[in-house]
Amino acid sequence: MVKLMSKCIVIGAGPGGMSAAIYLKRAGIDVILIEKMVPGGEMLKTNKIENYLGFDSIDGGELALRMSSQVKDLGIEIIRDDITDISYDNTFIVTGLKNKYQADYVIIATGRVPRKLGLDMEEALLNRGISYCATCDGAFYKGKEVAIVGGGDSALTEALYLSDICLKVYVLVRKDLKASDILQNRVKNKDNIVILKNVSVSQFISSDSLTGVLLNDGRKLDVNGLFIAIGGTPDISFLKNLNVDTINGYIKTDDKMRTNIKGLYAVGDVRYKDFYQIITAASDGAIAALSIREDD
Ligand code: NDP
Repeated sequence: MVKLMSKCIVIGAGPGGMSAAIYLKRAGIDVILIEKMVPGGEMLKTNKIENYLGFDSIDGGELALRMSSQVKDLGIEIIRDDITDISYDNTFIVTGLKNKYQADYVIIATGRVPRKLGLDMEEALLNRGISYCATCDGAFYKGKEVAIVGGGDSALTEALYLSDICLKVYVLVRKDLKASDILQNRVKNKDNIVILKNVSVSQFISSDSLTGVLLNDGRKLDVNGLFIAIGGTPDISFLKNLNVDTINGYIKTDDKMRTNIKGLYAVGDVRYKDFYQIITAASDGAIAALSIREDD
């Protein structure tokens, strides 16, 4: 295993991580950006972004590409590795599946993973009717009836996307919608989107793949696809050897993105905060980088 050294390591190349890397590099601080998949994070799952400053409307993948190009053009190395452990012994030792890394400062920008419904067969039916990403999998359900679970911005964004591909889209909301008014109004104008409130899925109906869902009120919906868009939770199991303070599973930071561990910062969706947006993640990243410059 090679050991790579840098003044600072940023883990996760979503908007928070990429913004941090750009600010660090421009401040003359040596930085490595580590990402286990492709740069972009949750942006890659969003087809249309209309609230990121500077763009009236932009595809999430396109915005991710622009950000990663900006990172690469500055000469910042994006290393593909899956981090499994971080320990501290005078410096941080970051262990991935491929390499070990050493740094004085680490910024955690690993975001969240999709929350599961937790029903029987959820795992087994993944990619056989169940999906957590409409932009990725919507095309498989062309002309079919599908349902989405969730009442937030993600659920309605996905509903609007799917309504252009699918015959009918049910949105299953456990209580009431919490999505922004602009999305709710757009959904109202779509004839093939049906919102069902105060319902939850109690069972998946399947043969080889999903053929329907049973709702808690006894109704059965014949759908070929079920998109689960009920938010996410951070996966910070790689921090098990550091006693990082958390709130509800999210990393606790101060307003300079510092955690309780000296030299360790957290930005974006992995951190406990009020608003989870691309622009707030980017802002967190900038703040963490500037804090490191101040703290060094
Ligand atoms: P949210 O946490 O905002 O919403 C989650 C939704 O899922 C809620 O309706 C919640 O219901 C429901 N839910 C949670 N758990 C369950 C469950 N077990 N069963 C059924 N329903 C459940 O998550 P989102 O992913 O929608 O959004 C995350 C953040 O990203 C938000 O800040 C959002 O504004 C932002 N976002 C912005 C977009 C944009 O601006 N273009 C696009 C997408 C997301 P309840 O309300 O009852 O808890």
